[in-house]
Amino acid sequence: MKYISTRGEIEPIGFCDAVMMGLARDGGLLLPSAIPQISETLLDTWQRLTYQQLATEILDLFNDDIPKHILEDMVERSYASFDHPHVTPMTEKGGLYILELFHGPTLAFKDVALQLLGNLFEYQLAQKGGFMNILGATSGDTGSAAIYGVRGKKGINIFILHPHGRTSPIQALQMTTVLDPNVFNVAVKGTFDDAQSIVKSLFSDLPFKDAYHLGAINSINWARVLAQVVYYVYSYLKLRKLGHKHVDYSVPTGNFGDIFAGYVARKMLPQGCIHTLILATNANDLLTRFVLHGDYSKGTVQATSSPSMDIQIASNFERYLYYLRDEDGSRVKADMEQFTATGTLDLSGLTERVAGDFRSTSVSEEQTVETIRSFYEQEKYLLDPHTAVGVKAAWDCRDADRPVVCLATAHPAKFGQAVLQAIGKEPELPVALKGLAEKESRCSVMEADEASIRSYIEANAIQ
Ligand SMILES: *Cc1c(COP(=O)(O)O)cnc(C)c1O
Repeated sequence: MKYISTRGEIEPIGFCDAVMMGLARDGGLLLPSAIPQISETLLDTWQRLTYQQLATEILDLFNDDIPKHILEDMVERSYASFDHPHVTPMTEKGGLYILELFHGPTLAFKDVALQLLGNLFEYQLAQKGGFMNILGATSGDTGSAAIYGVRGKKGINIFILHPHGRTSPIQALQMTTVLDPNVFNVAVKGTFDDAQSIVKSLFSDLPFKDAYHLGAINSINWARVLAQVVYYVYSYLKLRKLGHKHVDYSVPTGNFGDIFAGYVARKMLPQGCIHTLILATNANDLLTRFVLHGDYSKGTVQATSSPSMDIQIASNFERYLYYLRDEDGSRVKADMEQFTATGTLDLSGLTERVAGDFRSTSVSEEQTVETIRSFYEQEKYLLDPHTAVGVKAAWDCRDADRPVVCLATAHPAKFGQAVLQAIGKEPELPVALKGLAEKESRCSVMEADEASIRSYIEANAIQ
């Protein structure tokens, strides 16, 4: 399988190069040159597979670089850190299927992809005898999942900047209590945007980037999307076994990575298996405006109780746009240039097509809290605020003829404040979070100053 850019200006590359490259050199995002088609007969065979076996089969379809037995071992190790034998178990509650994606080490769905990505990086570096220094800024979830993905890995150091005192206490502790010598936490005295702009600036310094082999771990990496395709197919197979042929998915959405994985799964499976993708947004409704009116235009970010969805540019959106533009890279390039220049893109001529793929609604803060409360009251099941946004959207957008799978993207204990507000008590802490505050932690508190953070990296990087 070869990979191409959404902007059509790179020569096709292999899977490993695509994973290492992250962003394509022409500024586009990488996509497989064709999406493999799964027949009903193959689905019958897949029905019997464990999560890990299915993940190996799917990765193998999208990659000609890594031998299958190595993939198998990599997948096995990636999901050994999950606390459930089915990796992403599904449970029926209140007429919906809740797909629990939070059984990994940091209790959010990003673990599913980042555990695998860490192993892919390690494999590549071992093959080529290289090293890399991962650098990223986080407002919470991504940083800890990335750290757990590469802790203790050979040839990789990771530097994660977070805004000092501005993540939730649990989120900060999840990062700073990882004491492996290759992990460097920096608490920047400033906002997330301050930390992010330092990271961007260091990446744009090409001599620095090249000298230290800086690597990114953000949501545009193709391997992250691919790892997420697996749980759509896995959960679909479970419902197929129960006699459901057509299934909808409701996905709490921020950067469009998770729901795009659903779109890929939908393209792989026979027509209609994944019928409709319900795109759930919080008050940051950029993508809902796109689905309903074809209006893709930036607003200002509003802080909500589902912070991992507080975005105004969806970094994976360009991948869907590529298909919407009939795989014509030059049109995507023109669109994205216009969006960069003006902050807006008029796609209103395409709404009918978009409606064939997605339904969407934006969920307010009040509705989020009310959903957590009523779901708990009726089902004795606690939703985290991100998942609650998806459940509310499923209620509003579902079709009575089809079951809906709601992606549960975080464990409620990660967002105890919102839960407290909804039901008057905090959720019980799972083992992974208990005693975190008593653990030894390591973190450098630094001014939001690019020069000193650059020196810190130079002093601690592999080189
Ligand atoms: C990252 C995240 C999301 C949003 O996922 P995208 O792939 O960015 O759309 C939703 N919920 C939680 C808990 C997350 O951490």
